[in-house]
Amino acid sequence: MKKKIIILPGDGIGKEVTTEGKKVLEKIASSFGHEFEFDEAVIGHDAIEATGNPLPDETLIKLKNCDAILFGAVGHPKYDNDPTLKVRPEQGLLKMRKELGLYANLRPIKLFDELLEASSIKPEVLKGSDILFFRELTGDVYFGEKGRKDDGNTAYDVMIYQRYEVERIAHKAFQAARTRKKKVTSVDKANVLESSRLWRETVQEIGKQYPDVQLEHQFVDSAAMKLIQNPRSFDVVLTGNLFGDILTDEASQIAGSMGMLASASVGDKVGLYEPIHGSAHDITGKGIANPLASILSAALLLDISFGLKEESEAIIKAIEQTLKAGYRTTDIADAKTSKEKILNTQAMGSYILKQLSQAHVAVS
Ligand code: NAD
Repeated sequence: MKKKIIILPGDGIGKEVTTEGKKVLEKIASSFGHEFEFDEAVIGHDAIEATGNPLPDETLIKLKNCDAILFGAVGHPKYDNDPTLKVRPEQGLLKMRKELGLYANLRPIKLFDELLEASSIKPEVLKGSDILFFRELTGDVYFGEKGRKDDGNTAYDVMIYQRYEVERIAHKAFQAARTRKKKVTSVDKANVLESSRLWRETVQEIGKQYPDVQLEHQFVDSAAMKLIQNPRSFDVVLTGNLFGDILTDEASQIAGSMGMLASASVGDKVGLYEPIHGSAHDITGKGIANPLASILSAALLLDISFGLKEESEAIIKAIEQTLKAGYRTTDIADAKTSKEKILNTQAMGSYILKQLSQAHVAVS
């Protein structure tokens, strides 16, 4: 398969982790006989420094003319410490999502058995959890009318959804469920909110086209409780922008560390793959960032954008074997045991490559 991938490292540890994600993609290409052409572009703080623009036109042109994007993160302490700065790194991220029409954010929450102890939830509750979130990205209170009245003493943000926005992400969720345990849990607040009633009615309509997939509805408050009480009861979770924002951060605790979670933002064209973490100024340059979220993002890219399931699973297997062999970055290390071997960012990436090489020799 011949494909063009843009590497968009961004700022802080974004650069460190995407370096390892790219190496894994190169390894997959050589092992499985694919031709991946790579190019790089700037975004965020680096782009502001170089051009004054967090998403320069040159970057946007490259992004619109590729098959997939592996992104790191944006952010810099300069902006976090001064909210009055007008040009900011995250503007690049929001503009990129809008320009590329990325309306669905997919976040797989999968716990590796070896990390059961790294979570704050009891291992017996967590074991076997495997959830795929579909969070809508273009509607809701983020984009509805907002403002102040009564001399600034009343504020409002309108929660708004259009039927087509719900339809297109619902199709994606049902299609994904067909490749998994065939269950969709749609989360809303239809007992109170009109936009949630439109959401529920639309999901029910779309669900009729997927009779082989079980559809259930949960109110967001109850879903938030059940996620922690019985995470194994979920397969695909479909939800709006605001509820998805909150629930996916809650669910990240199931996986133990920010350094272990990848996400995909997809629309009708190119897909964007990134760790859920940010640029982590506190550990930038120390070489200790966990690259596994970026490597898992590469696995998602292969699966979702290129349909390369076997290649994607080879990466996940390599991560499992690495964890099983006791290798950890500091964020996922268990202080209670002396059996683990701590690796830095680069060494963790190299160990994954070694596992991939061995697996390929074993099957070929
Ligand atoms: P963060 O995700 O960068 O870091 C939170 C904590 O998790 C930190 O202690 C960090 O050291 C740790 N951490 C994160 N990723 C890790 C990894 N791979 N390995 C080991 N530890 C890891 O969130 P923050 O500190 O709130 O934000 C830092 C900057 O990132 C801010 O400027 C923020 O705006 C930006 N940010 C960007 C994105 C994005 O680009 N998508 C997302 C979130 C935050």
